[in-house]
Amino acid sequence: MNSFWKIAVIGSGPAGFYAAGELFRQQSWDIKVDMFERLPTPFGLVRGGVAPDHQKIKSVTKIYSRIAENENFRFFGNVEFGRDIKQSDLLEHYDAVIYTVGSPADRALGIPGEDLSGSHSATEFVAWYNGHPDFREHKFDLSVKYAFVIGMGNVALDVARILAKNPEELAETDIADYALKTLRKSQLEDIWLVGRRGPLQAAFSPVELREFLELPEADVMIEENALELDAESQHILETISGKDTKKNIEILKQMSAMAASGKKRKVHFLFLASPLEISGDGKVEKIRMVRNQLVKKEDGSLRPQATDKIVEEDAGLVFRSIGYHGKPLADLPFDQKSGTIPNEFGQVKDPENGNLLRNREYVAGWIKRGPSGVIGTNKQDAVETVHRMLETFLKEKMESGKNVSNPDIVLLLEKRKVEFVSFADWKLLDAHEIEAGQKQGRPRVKLTSTAEMLEIFCQKR
Ligand SMILES: Cc1cc2nc3c(=O)[nH]c(=O)nc-3n(C[C@H](O)[C@H](O)[C@H](O)COP(=O)(O)OP(=O)(O)OC[C@H]3O[C@@H](n4cnc5c(N)ncnc54)[C@H](O)[C@@H]3O)c2cc1C
Repeated sequence: MNSFWKIAVIGSGPAGFYAAGELFRQQSWDIKVDMFERLPTPFGLVRGGVAPDHQKIKSVTKIYSRIAENENFRFFGNVEFGRDIKQSDLLEHYDAVIYTVGSPADRALGIPGEDLSGSHSATEFVAWYNGHPDFREHKFDLSVKYAFVIGMGNVALDVARILAKNPEELAETDIADYALKTLRKSQLEDIWLVGRRGPLQAAFSPVELREFLELPEADVMIEENALELDAESQHILETISGKDTKKNIEILKQMSAMAASGKKRKVHFLFLASPLEISGDGKVEKIRMVRNQLVKKEDGSLRPQATDKIVEEDAGLVFRSIGYHGKPLADLPFDQKSGTIPNEFGQVKDPENGNLLRNREYVAGWIKRGPSGVIGTNKQDAVETVHRMLETFLKEKMESGKNVSNPDIVLLLEKRKVEFVSFADWKLLDAHEIEAGQKQGRPRVKLTSTAEMLEIFCQKR
C-alpha cells in the first residue's frame, strides 16, 4: 500500500503551480506532485511571455517557488509530454494527471501575403525577446521604417511598446541580450496598432495603455475624429461599459490632445481597420486595409463591418497579434475551434465518445478555457479543477481503498536517457542568471539555449 496519492502536472506555468498549491492545501489528503516541463526552466509565460519591462509582475514566481519547496513536490524540467513521456506512461505511474500546457500557437490572419518574409506572429516576437530557447534563432529585420501590429489587446501593446521604447531603458531589464542588440540598431520610425473595432471595443487594459503616455522616444498619434463616438457608442459608454473601458477612453483622449513633439518614433492607434493583403517582392512592402464601420446587431452589440474605403500603406514588418491558440496533445481529445481540451470543470471529456468523462485526466489554465485572462485568473481556474478531481476521482479511489503502489517515473526517465533537471538545478541556474544580472544592474541575464543551461547544471551541481 502506498499512502500518498500521486498526481502528475504537465506544464509549469501559473496554472500548473496553482494546481500544485491547491493540492498541497488539502489537509485530509496525502498528495505528491510531480511537475513535468518541456523547457529546463519553470514558470511558462511568466518567464517567456510577460514583457521584460514589467518585472513586478514576474515576482509572482516567488509564490511558485514556495510551492516547489514542499517536500512532496518534484520538478522534472527538460521533459516533454509527447516526446519523452506519453499518456500511457503517466497513467501507469500516477493516480491522476493535470495537463496545464497553455496555448503556445497563434491565430493566422488568413490573408494573402501572410507568409512573406517580415510577417511574423506576436507569439514569435514575444518569445524571441524573452529568450525562449525555441525562438532565439528567429530573425526580425528592424532596419525597416514601418511596422504594423495587427490587434489591440495587451500583447499587441507589449509588442508595440518594446518596438517603440528606447533600448537603453530595456537594457535595465532581463530582455534577451540578442534582442537588445537588434533593438539598438532599429531604424523603425512609425509603428501602427491596427484594430478592426472602435476604441470602445479595444481589448487592452488601462494600465498597459497608460504607458504610451510616457514613452520618452515615441509620440502617440490617434486619427482625428477617432474618439468622436456615434450616439450608440456614447450610449453604451455611459450605460453599459465597465470602468476599464471608461478609463481607456479617458487615456486615449489624453493621448489625442498631446501634440506630436518630434520624437524619434511615432506609435499610431488606428481603429476600425482590417488588413486585406500584405504584398511585396519576397518580403513585406505594403499592407492593404479596409476601413470598417460599427453596425448594431440584433443582440444590441456593435460589430465592425467593412466599408468601401481601402487604404494601402508602406510596411516593412507586420506582427499579427490576434490571439494565442492551443495545440493538440497526443492521445487527448482536442477542440480545434477553441484550441482547448474539452472538459467539464477541468475534467477531460471525450467528445467522440458521447462526452463521457475521463476520470483520471484533468486540465487547467489556457488549455482548459482558452487564451484569456491574467495570471491570477489561472488560480481560480486551477482550484476549480483540483476540487473537481478531489470530488470525483480521488474520493472514489480512496473509498474503494485501491491505492496501490505506482512505480517511480525516475526509473523510466533514466531508462529512456532523458536528461531531466530538478527544481534544485533551476535554483542554481536562477542564481547564475541573477548574479550575471547584478554585474550589469539588471534583474538577471537570461540563458537562452537549452545546451548552455544543461552545461551550467553540470558545472554547478
Ligand atoms: C505575451 C503575453 C504577455 C502577458 N503578460 C501578462 C501580464 O503582464 N500580466 C498578467 O497577469 N498576465 C499576462 N499574460 C497572461 C498569462 O501569462 C497567462 O494567463 C498564463 O501564463 C497562462 O498560464 P498557463 O499555465 O495556462 O500557461 P503557460 O504560462 O503558457 O504555461 C504552460 C507551460 O507548459 C509547458 N508545456 C507546454 N507543452 C508541454 C509539453 N508537451 N510537455 C511539458 N510541458 C509543456 C510550457 O513550456 C509552459 O511552461 C500574458 C500573456 C502573454 C501571451
